[in-house]
Amino acid sequence: MENVLITGGAGFIGSKLTLSLIEKGHKVTVLDNLSPQIHGEDVNLSPLYKSIKDKVNFIHGDVRNLSDWTKAIVNQHIIVHLAAETGTGQSMYEISKYVEVNISGTSHLLDYMANEPHQIKKVVVASSRAIYGEGKYQCEAHGIVFPETRNEKDMVSGQFEPTCTSCSKIVSLVATDEESKINPCSIYGITKYNQEQMVLVACKSLGIDACALRFQNVYGPGQSLSNPYTGILSIFSTRILNNNPINIFEDGLESRDFVYIDDVVDATILAMFNTNANDTSFNIGSGKSTDVNTVAKLLKGAYNSDIDIKVSGDFRVGDIRHNKADIYKAKRVLNFEPKIMFEQGIKLFTTWVKKQEIQKDNFDQSIKDLKLKGLMK
Ligand code: NAD
Repeated sequence: MENVLITGGAGFIGSKLTLSLIEKGHKVTVLDNLSPQIHGEDVNLSPLYKSIKDKVNFIHGDVRNLSDWTKAIVNQHIIVHLAAETGTGQSMYEISKYVEVNISGTSHLLDYMANEPHQIKKVVVASSRAIYGEGKYQCEAHGIVFPETRNEKDMVSGQFEPTCTSCSKIVSLVATDEESKINPCSIYGITKYNQEQMVLVACKSLGIDACALRFQNVYGPGQSLSNPYTGILSIFSTRILNNNPINIFEDGLESRDFVYIDDVVDATILAMFNTNANDTSFNIGSGKSTDVNTVAKLLKGAYNSDIDIKVSGDFRVGDIRHNKADIYKAKRVLNFEPKIMFEQGIKLFTTWVKKQEIQKDNFDQSIKDLKLKGLMK
């Protein structure tokens, strides 16, 4: 049995991972600053924090402080580094904060391991599909291409599909594998790539095993229903339960690879204990893409609601069009197999949501913020 430190262990993924590791007999320490954006102003009311606080060695601290890392790292064998600022849109106007938490925060961990005695044998860092930007596509004339961020002129005219960098023709989606071009189109994506590369490079030189998990869109019971910056399943659910209409951006055919929380926890545990999962990165997703119109309809049906769903043509600067992960490498090396498909996962998610208190709908305010910053059209 191992001593495991989970940074961000009070968050959505971290709390579920914590509970699963404890059930398997491991001893878990959590380092988390209980960020109000995730946990609300009164942390005693945070269901995620409440679910773990009496079961772990909880350190209320910040990854930006080396002294907090110092308290947390003593006697640890494995570190799963999840603590991060996670909003793609928000990262475009809170740049210093994203760099400080995600990049400088990670640098303290590496400094500690490089300069202090410790027993750490493995580090797993959470990366993101955001590092690929638009991801991998096929052009009829030019084969595999990695489109640039879509231009505003096309989007204003209602042409939302990515185009070939050579001939400007519309391209079709293929699954993005780990060898695909790294092409982040948000500060968040840049920080996640920095984090994973810093961990892989530093751990290699220190002789510590490390791997990065490039999570796709993770969803499921426990995800924040009040944070308007992440997670369309939460955002739509909170809109529907407040009887507010849903405004679908673009033409609603934009898609994402939704991966269920339990599958992400399984993948993380496989990566923690697999010695072949070293000095490398894995896509962790479902391997399927689901469009936003389908998501909205499934949620409206599950909540038995009659709210309006409007496809508005609005768009956010820097949003990607589609996402589908190639998960072959995680299957081959980690033996990872996603078990919960989207239709089943959405039932489990909405069943959980119905038991929660209805949250205040902060979505309109987040759109006002984005519009003020010129990031929403
Ligand atoms: P979350 O926001 O639910 O949890 C993050 C946790 O980190 C929170 O408990 C928060 O209080 C804590 N935290 C934030 N800043 C901190 C700081 N400065 N010091 C200490 N703790 C801090 O996020 P999540 O969805 O559980 O994501 C976990 C990781 O997975 C993140 O690194 C994120 O970038 C990555 N990821 C998540 C998804 C997803 O869809 N959820 C997708 C790709 C990557």
